[in-house]
Amino acid sequence: MTHITIIGGGIAGLATAFYLQKKANDTGRPISYTLVEQSGCLGGKIITETVDNFTIEGGPDSFITQKPWGLRLCRDLGMTDRLLSTNDTQRNVYVLRSGRLVPFPAGYRLAIPTQFLPFALSPLISPLGKIRMGLDLFIPPRMDKTDESLADFMRRRLGQEALDMIGEPLMAGIYTADPERLSIQSTFPMFVGLEQKHGSLIKAMQVAKWNMYRKKQQVNGSTPQSPQNGKLTRKFSIFASFQGGMSELVSAIETQLTGEIQLNSRVTTIRPTNSSESTGKRLEVVLTGDESRTIQTDNVVLAAPARTMFPVIQSTLPTLATALNDIRYTSTATISLGYRRQDIISQHDLNGFGFVIPKSEQRHILACTWSSTKFHHRTDDEHVLLRTFVGGNGREHLVGLSDEALITLARMELFITMGITATPVIQRIFRWNNGAPQYDVGHLNRVADMEQMAAQLPGLYLTGSSFRGIGIPDCVKGAFDTVEQIWQDLA
Ligand SMILES: Cc1cc2nc3c(=O)[nH]c(=O)nc-3n(C[C@H](O)[C@H](O)[C@H](O)COP(=O)(O)OP(=O)(O)OC[C@H]3O[C@@H](n4cnc5c(N)ncnc54)[C@H](O)[C@@H]3O)c2cc1C
Repeated sequence: MTHITIIGGGIAGLATAFYLQKKANDTGRPISYTLVEQSGCLGGKIITETVDNFTIEGGPDSFITQKPWGLRLCRDLGMTDRLLSTNDTQRNVYVLRSGRLVPFPAGYRLAIPTQFLPFALSPLISPLGKIRMGLDLFIPPRMDKTDESLADFMRRRLGQEALDMIGEPLMAGIYTADPERLSIQSTFPMFVGLEQKHGSLIKAMQVAKWNMYRKKQQVNGSTPQSPQNGKLTRKFSIFASFQGGMSELVSAIETQLTGEIQLNSRVTTIRPTNSSESTGKRLEVVLTGDESRTIQTDNVVLAAPARTMFPVIQSTLPTLATALNDIRYTSTATISLGYRRQDIISQHDLNGFGFVIPKSEQRHILACTWSSTKFHHRTDDEHVLLRTFVGGNGREHLVGLSDEALITLARMELFITMGITATPVIQRIFRWNNGAPQYDVGHLNRVADMEQMAAQLPGLYLTGSSFRGIGIPDCVKGAFDTVEQIWQDLA
């Protein structure tokens, strides 16, 4: 029977195991697998802690539903009833501008305005900045098809102010990255496509809006589809989570996995099997930890952060090891603070999902999510929960501060930006050292090269957030594609 070893028990490794199992069941071709995780629990960066009445996320607090693979996984797990939409009646996001929280005007799709009036009336961008953004309608598309940085792309199409006030703080929030180095093709390829297709981002958004309107009209005019058609019939907000937090996703996968799961075991080496042995397996995976042993296997899926795989394959594929090690990472931390609602409400109404901060404001935090407004079920009616982000591009040193210093810093920033002086009743810090892979310009070409290098060791596959998307839906898609590839190779 074909055996597959998956290294890493984050969402990428878990989804790989789940879709391998599903594929085996669907096709009737039996396989066995071992998922190896160095820590004592599954989930990787997905960590939810329930402390008193607070549901606190250490890593991701949601996933985007516009990319279908996250929702698809939920459907395949049979857990769509657990999905939680954002509280969209309070869907305001703010940007700190000259020390004041200014609402993001309605109708923005990432950095692109799709509604004229809210955009024209918003104080977020100066009149000159708005005129510059409008020039997007007339600037011809770039002919050069090579990758460019997000900053160059945005400056070219929408101007410096749009980059500073919208692009940079949003990217700092999502990718904790420097937009001057971040690859547009690895992060927002759809914008490049829209530019090429429509010649203008604003025009493209108008077309998309019109198409959506027409689709809605058609749906309204047609007979409702049967819920048994395999598709999700319920509508979800742009971001979704679970009632019990993101760890519900991990538990749901874990419950359904029937293969071997080896926790507290670190993979130290992957190498070809010594041909004098007669196991019939082509690869060996050496583990240390709770159970030090060598697994004889047919295929290995690397689903751990690229950099951590450097020592694991250095002796077998040194060029690939170096390429994996060359992917840059930044460090971040999240600081969650829970308050009594009555202590906060006189100081701030928390009417929104939170705010992001442009670098030009020179603050110490990147962003703050008003978690208990963004999602219900994050605490009870008597409390509120806020989560601030520190670190990332150029500010990684802050992650190394002591817990006490980080809490003081977060509270000071919340005082300066929101006027909050109340004392939190609960505080929790999660540090993510080298936790955020940086997709620098040219990243996708380098990934393609790495995949070719991996192919030199038949049976070796790369997946996970280091390669083709850091978001949970991207990791799920990567896992799905890897399973398809394995199946093709088996055939
Ligand atoms: C603070 C924060 C907020 C985020 N917010 C969001 C969000 O809101 N939405 C979203 O979609 N994404 C978000 N992300 C990104 C997303 O959470 C991650 O990209 C994704 O969870 C990574 O999954 P992964 O499986 O690739 O890697 P990981 O989760 O890092 O898992 C890799 C696993 O491999 C294990 N491992 C490493 N080396 C070895 C070894 N030698 N042997 C065995 N095991 C090993 C590790 O212990 C780990 O468990 C966020 C990330 C962070 C840090």
